[in-house]
Amino acid sequence: MNKLRILQQYLKTKYGSRFSNRKQLERFHKQQIKKQLLFTIENSPFYRQLYAPFLEEIEKGQLAALPIIDKEVMMEHFDTLNTVNISKEEAFRVAFEAEKTRNFSPTIRHITVGLSSGTSGNRGVFLVSEEEQTLWAGSVIGKVLPSSILHKHTIAFFLRANSNLYEATKNKRISFHFFDLLDSFQQHITRLNEVNPSILIAPPSMLRKIASWQQEGLISICPQKIISVAEVLEDMDSAFIRATFQQTVHQVYQCTEGFLATTCSQGTLHINEDLVHIEKEYLDQENGIFVPIITDFMRKTQPIIRYRLNDILIEKKTACSCGSLFLALERIDGRCDDIFIGRSELDNREISIFPDFIRRAIIFASNEIQQFKVIQHSLNNIEIKLEVPPEHLESCQSNVIQELHALWSTKKCAVPHIFFSHYDIQLHDKKLKRIERLVSHGEQI
Ligand SMILES: [Zn+2]
Repeated sequence: MNKLRILQQYLKTKYGSRFSNRKQLERFHKQQIKKQLLFTIENSPFYRQLYAPFLEEIEKGQLAALPIIDKEVMMEHFDTLNTVNISKEEAFRVAFEAEKTRNFSPTIRHITVGLSSGTSGNRGVFLVSEEEQTLWAGSVIGKVLPSSILHKHTIAFFLRANSNLYEATKNKRISFHFFDLLDSFQQHITRLNEVNPSILIAPPSMLRKIASWQQEGLISICPQKIISVAEVLEDMDSAFIRATFQQTVHQVYQCTEGFLATTCSQGTLHINEDLVHIEKEYLDQENGIFVPIITDFMRKTQPIIRYRLNDILIEKKTACSCGSLFLALERIDGRCDDIFIGRSELDNREISIFPDFIRRAIIFASNEIQQFKVIQHSLNNIEIKLEVPPEHLESCQSNVIQELHALWSTKKCAVPHIFFSHYDIQLHDKKLKRIERLVSHGEQI
């Protein structure tokens, strides 16, 4: 790992705010996109073929004229899409082997191979070169470290699986402590006390657990910065963690497709527009709800160009007081697969009901709700798990029913049957989703 390159990228990320207005930023994007397109056409047989009819548009820098791809397309054409001639079969074999032995440094000819979790069952595999890892490490450190790189930092990182990618950020001043989410709570408690991290990075469900240990006196740690990753950070979890540690809970929105957004000093998520270009495909323009189509400026091994993510984002309507030019988000709302489906009473069509609406309905129902989970089993059946002080349970349940009925009625949809069950969500290997849809489109039951 080239430390000097990491340092360069760190300095560029942290201090190189080269943009004084959006126009400048747009110009920068145009240059980067053109550079990336030319590189890709030359080095990726898949993109070369895909873009063959669009050479004129590419010349004019008209990115929006090019076809959109997604994970399915990427995995289908893996062998010819990547620029280092690695086959999907070989990549999966190496990645699975590493997962099985929990040895997380799988490489093929110096290219790191990783698995993406793929919540909907379709696992992906990704490739990153040493150069890309270096740039990535520098960018992450630049955006995440609360103080200078010259200060000492002890980072506790809770992950489902380690990977080379995270090892890349290790150096003398920054010590990385990897916590495997599969280890026991007792192991975590003991190690957290030993390590006493200055920076704590974990999925919000784990952060909430850690906050409860701190409240119970099982641990006594004083993190300077807390960063939520990998799952949607719900306001009620954020509030619980914030109250325990008396500080803002930061977020990093990072997936195998790229390092997409980070929170600023105000706690607002901003898209990393120095690293990626984002187009918005609106699902609900009035409410600012969109699916991002991303073009990454740094990925050369597995180029990501006009790639539709399966995530729902909500843009922030008001400017952030930090002064950043980068697109501000209200929140990451969840996966597209978790948009609930209603049945229109007018013409029987399927109507989308976004996680954000469901979340608001639940929170609005009562202040007494501490944790929740809402599952759509079928168009007519919704299960709700509530953690509420027992004396408030009955009134909370009837308020929640009322709120959800009102939501479905506003959407002119047939009101579903709602039933309650005990809040029994345990932390485990799987990502925690507070709003989850199990029914598919077109299912009648
Ligand atoms: Zn901001």
